[in-house]
Amino acid sequence: MTGILLDKLVPFLDAELCLAEFAADESANGLQIEGGATVRKVGLAVDACEYVFQKAAEKGIDFLFVHHGLIWGGLNSVRGLIKKRIKALFDSEISLYACHLPLDCHPKYGNNARLLQLLSIKRMGEFGNYHGKNISYWGRSATELSLEEFAARIDTTLVTRSSVISFGKKVRTVGVISGGGWFAINEAEKYGIDTFLTGEHSHSAYTLAEEMKVNLIFAGHYATETPGVKAVGEALKKRFGLEVEFIDHPTGL
Ligand SMILES: [Zn+2]
Repeated sequence: MTGILLDKLVPFLDAELCLAEFAADESANGLQIEGGATVRKVGLAVDACEYVFQKAAEKGIDFLFVHHGLIWGGLNSVRGLIKKRIKALFDSEISLYACHLPLDCHPKYGNNARLLQLLSIKRMGEFGNYHGKNISYWGRSATELSLEEFAARIDTTLVTRSSVISFGKKVRTVGVISGGGWFAINEAEKYGIDTFLTGEHSHSAYTLAEEMKVNLIFAGHYATETPGVKAVGEALKKRFGLEVEFIDHPTGL
């Protein structure tokens, strides 16, 4: 069975995903929990949680790559729920690697780049300024689409049910921000965006969108953050010949 040393895989991912550029991210990106020395099977998931850890152990996964890890803004104590979660990983010797903002905005593996690609929207430029760094992209559709047509494409591609609010325009120029990215709607006018796609619902976005006449699509935080982890899985399979498996645990949110 093929495998790779954890000590080789971790620096590869750290460099490939440009973690050093995101020191200010609230997520402790990189290897959060150290498991066994050799990695043979990689699991990909959006969230680090009990369900995912259980499935990973059942499937013989020894390295779990997630978008939302366990450690945010430091770790002051290991008790209660966090103790249970960490213990589950130690008991099954599973390593946990988290990649938050670097995975949203990565030009190759990132949620946003992949979303545009999956939805056949040609990437045109960066947008979505978050703490001084653009974390996303906007793009153009080759043909003008009706909002219904575009929403149906999203729902089929991401296996989700989007909430769609029309402010009258056809879909041609799309801004996309995975997860909770409503703040970037402020940049819609600057880039001529007619349709703004993000994950989580936001009440605050409504009146801004209304006045800018920008269509809103909320496709789900979870659903918009599955493409990145899947892309990393594909890359690890191709590069190291590792067995990879996506563990689906949709929240519907
Ligand atoms: Zn998220």
